[in-house]
Amino acid sequence: MKKLKPESLMMSHGYKPELSVGSIKCPIFQTSTFEFESAEEGKRFFEMAYGHRKPAPNEEMGLIYSRINNPDLEILENRLCLWDEAEDAAVFESGMSAISTVMLEFLSPGDLLLMSSPVYGGTDHFSKHILDRFGIELMEFSAIDDVEAIRARLDASGKAHKLGLIHIETPANPTNAMIDLRAIADLAKSYSTDERKVITAVDNTYMGPLWQHPLKHGADLVLYSATKYIGGHSDLIAGAVLGSKELMTRVKTLRTFLGNMTSPYTGWLLMRSLETLKVRMDQQAVNAEKIAEFLHAHPLVETVYFPGIQRRHDKDLDALMKRQCNTNGAMISFDVVGGEKEAFTFLNALKLIKLAVSLGSTESLAQHPATMTHVDVSEEDRRLMNITGKLVRLSVGVENVDDLIWDVEQALSKIKSPAEAVEEAI
Ligand SMILES: *Cc1c(COP(=O)(O)O)cnc(C)c1O
Repeated sequence: MKKLKPESLMMSHGYKPELSVGSIKCPIFQTSTFEFESAEEGKRFFEMAYGHRKPAPNEEMGLIYSRINNPDLEILENRLCLWDEAEDAAVFESGMSAISTVMLEFLSPGDLLLMSSPVYGGTDHFSKHILDRFGIELMEFSAIDDVEAIRARLDASGKAHKLGLIHIETPANPTNAMIDLRAIADLAKSYSTDERKVITAVDNTYMGPLWQHPLKHGADLVLYSATKYIGGHSDLIAGAVLGSKELMTRVKTLRTFLGNMTSPYTGWLLMRSLETLKVRMDQQAVNAEKIAEFLHAHPLVETVYFPGIQRRHDKDLDALMKRQCNTNGAMISFDVVGGEKEAFTFLNALKLIKLAVSLGSTESLAQHPATMTHVDVSEEDRRLMNITGKLVRLSVGVENVDDLIWDVEQALSKIKSPAEAVEEAI
């Protein structure tokens, strides 16, 4: 049989219609528990679920209870594996529960967590204000730091032997700074010993499962807020973790005891979403290229933070993008001429693009990082990362691109150019 592409398999993979009266779609298995055919069967399932015994060849784990397993979640997880070519996946009730479960599983009191900065605000809060209560130390590095500088800092800290987990986000939100995944995975390897493997976890939400595949570049785990591209319709909250069978067994075991798995209905919604993931993301990437080009040429836009524009003048970035990503993504940040006032004028004037946080959905969204998603970032870090009052972030959707450009253009036209502002003052 020909090896089919993930987009060809999203409608059927892992689902057996004959087990569900021929239904072409996987039903919602809205049930908390599953009936055993016999007491012996229930005993066998529990032995396997609790790892008291390895399954015999061809012996499959059966359904027990929806916190442990449910067909909607299992089929969804099998389908998610196809995009990243992962051995196993686990779906969670939010991106935050995926991230926090990984951190709790792979860090112990006294350990060091190495994390890129900026990261998602929830991740930042969890590592600084919750993990620290469990005696886990945090060391941060900037997305623009080179690996040798990070290594030097680790060595100087005297804590390198306690390094347990490296958590990174690339491209960094909101300015699209890129981190070299291979270099970070090699760093983790160089601090690993036979007894202690340093785990590299990559929050890949910003590129989704199509445009960057961290496992292929040496990462151990890839994490998603499935609320974003994977869900893609701004109608659910969910998360996912993917990796090797061995690591995922640990992640899934902790999920069973934290009880933060996806509900069957959300699992079903995500399967519906996966069927169109490729066509949605393809269109979003094409639209983003055109909008970035338009912004780049506009006199009231100073800087466009979009790899497709930035890589033209940055050979290293271009080489990294070629190695690591299939597209330039669909997230664009840009500085308007002026400051917060001008950025707000633009945001308030948008007619088609919605003013909201979140990203990766069918509809285009715009927001103001300095006062919204990144308001908790220290002022110094914000300055370092170019998150200033004039910065606007756009998540590009699947609308007609000429309509989107029309909207951006009419909203920019509401900003007074410096010349007009001077004229008015006189
Ligand atoms: C949204 C987001 C999260 C958190 O996901 P939730 O589904 O909202 O819990 C984590 N990381 C990134 C990069 C995100 O954009």
